[in-house]
Amino acid sequence: MKMINDRTKDLKQGAIRAMFDKAAKMEGVISMGIGEPDMATPQPVCEAAARAMMEGKTHYTPNAGIPELRKAIAELSTVKDVGYDPQTEIIITNGGMGALSLVMSVIIDPGDEILIQDPQWLNYVQQVEYYGAKAVRVPTDAEHGFEMQPEVIESLLTPKTKALMINTPNNPTGCVTSPETLAAIADLAKKHDFLVITDEVYNTLLFEGTSSKSIAELPDMKERTVVVNSFSKFMAMCGWRIGYAAGPAAIVDKMTKCQENFNACANAVGQWAAVYALEHPELAEELRLIFEKRRERLLELIDGIDGMTCVRPNGAFYAFVDISSFGLDDKEFCNRLLEEKRVVCIPGSAFGDCGKGYIRIAYTNSLENIEEAMKRISEFCSELR
Ligand code: PLP
Repeated sequence: MKMINDRTKDLKQGAIRAMFDKAAKMEGVISMGIGEPDMATPQPVCEAAARAMMEGKTHYTPNAGIPELRKAIAELSTVKDVGYDPQTEIIITNGGMGALSLVMSVIIDPGDEILIQDPQWLNYVQQVEYYGAKAVRVPTDAEHGFEMQPEVIESLLTPKTKALMINTPNNPTGCVTSPETLAAIADLAKKHDFLVITDEVYNTLLFEGTSSKSIAELPDMKERTVVVNSFSKFMAMCGWRIGYAAGPAAIVDKMTKCQENFNACANAVGQWAAVYALEHPELAEELRLIFEKRRERLLELIDGIDGMTCVRPNGAFYAFVDISSFGLDDKEFCNRLLEEKRVVCIPGSAFGDCGKGYIRIAYTNSLENIEEAMKRISEFCSELR
């Protein structure tokens, strides 16, 4: 009997998980690998969830999520200026990943093409291929700040192009797409009639005065954009699995029907905690300030290592560092760094071919551990020279 279907046969464990599995068998490892805030969810948010639990808010919620949270997203989130109808244009999901997978499940027809930046967080490719579309990689480079160039996007469009994925601030590069590039992408989307899926899960982690506007806010873009966001990075709530999508009512309606049939709703008390989180943006600012300090110190330490360079990452909590001058490819560099110095970084090629020669350093660790990890990385680089 053939137990496993063809659709799942190409699903694989990502290189990030593989690094963690290897590190788990070692002692004294410092992880600069994980894409998750290291701090616990702010206590008042946990208390809001505890109150909800004690008040018996422990039932299934509406499939699209509790009206209170959808309203809070429409009025208080980073897309409040787009003017979403909380009844029909917002759905609460199992994290940002739940939102992404529901969007893919309702828009993709087999054979469609979805444009995805290279390098890019790889779950997009896995999801797109799982639903039967082809992932078309849009190459980027450090010279252009790892921004997708509109002319490159245009050259990759075909009659099968269904959507373009944007992720700003970006994982793995930490780069924030400029307003000019967003405007040019919006023009392309209107001219060639494709959807834009914009993953904005890092958009409260911005540094050096950088601002990040959603492409959905640009003229005539609301009707062809699906915004994906989440409470994971915004409020250190990765384990709560609360995210959302905002977009055209027809898409949100189908996503809600999928959610109804496949997983009912997102975690109920987590949704109440998320309402509290949106009502208290000062808590997100406290988290941002912690990352701001770490980022500053990490960049100083990177600058101090001869042969390492990196494009200034003005968002998220990643630095994407060029290690090509050390004579090892990025996988070998990370493997040996782990084996010889007990530091986890992620090889850039895990995010696509354009990440070759880079490593992703996540500053989701204490300042003390960042200092120690960078000391070890510096020693490793000196030994390679
Ligand atoms: N989008 C990007 C770009 C991410 O890096 C991640 C997680 O690392 C997610 C979405 C998923 O976040 P969530 O925990 O909300 O599912």
